[in-house]
Amino acid sequence: NSEFPLPKYTRVFTVSNQKGGVGKTTTAVNLAAALAEQGARVLVIDLDPQGNASTALGIEHRGDTAGSYEALIDATPLQDLMQQCPDIPTLWGVPATLDLAGAEIELVTLEHREYRLRQAIARLLAATNSEETMFHYIFVDCPPSLGLLTINAFVAAREVLIPIQCEYYALEGLSQLINNVNLLSEHLNPELRLSTILLTMFDGRTNLSQQVAEEVRTHFADETLNRSIPRSVRISEAPSYGQTVISYDPNSSGAVAYREAALEIAQRGAK
Ligand code: ADP
Ligand code: MG
Repeated sequence: NSEFPLPKYTRVFTVSNQKGGVGKTTTAVNLAAALAEQGARVLVIDLDPQGNASTALGIEHRGDTAGSYEALIDATPLQDLMQQCPDIPTLWGVPATLDLAGAEIELVTLEHREYRLRQAIARLLAATNSEETMFHYIFVDCPPSLGLLTINAFVAAREVLIPIQCEYYALEGLSQLINNVNLLSEHLNPELRLSTILLTMFDGRTNLSQQVAEEVRTHFADETLNRSIPRSVRISEAPSYGQTVISYDPNSSGAVAYREAALEIAQRGAK
């Protein structure tokens, strides 16, 4: 599909915002699904012990399931941990289980503690380097805190994607987040940059949503996608069916919006 160009190299995104409930997980899984639906090979790595991305992808993540904990602590290859999503054959997920919460502390004493995910992804890319097996996109879904899990995501990624909820205090904490990205890129990962901002839970009927959107677009003209994601009940229902909204209700406003946002990301390419 020429409208949806495939990148030549794997684009690794970390979906981050230290606030909870702003749409990180929803954004990670739905952009991933929208890109995979167009034929891209996409991997989502669930790095939040809550496992919400695993739920939405419909992959197994009971307590005894091996997932990102094993990737970080035991250096188990991601190829052995990823599961194919039931609805979209080119979409894969590495699940998170509750033991990942302990990894935050266990990592402290490990060697190269900030680089564990980066090393895991490097090994995956080396093992999947043919045209038929390479991943076009990897999305890392982060917990809402700046601990070692999130730092691992920042060190592993090239692009930071920040979802911003169009509500009160949306911009509070944003400059701190951007400071963190800059610190990380100075000290641990010079390739890292804020590439994409996506406005989520947008409600065009309220002045507040419009004001937040306008302010974000003024400050981040290049980074902010033209398409914003509307508030939609279908988006919030989909995870309880173990689905992304892309397969749960393909024609809903939320699915259409995530597809258009994914198209923008694909067409802009890695800058
Ligand atoms: P985070 O990962 O940042 O904590 P989530 O993606 O889990 O945020 O979203 C928080 C809650 O808001 C979830 O219940 C989710 O289903 C819901 N939600 C996310 N995006 C939308 C949207 N566009 N419209 C309606 N509900 C949404
Ligand atoms: Mg989340």
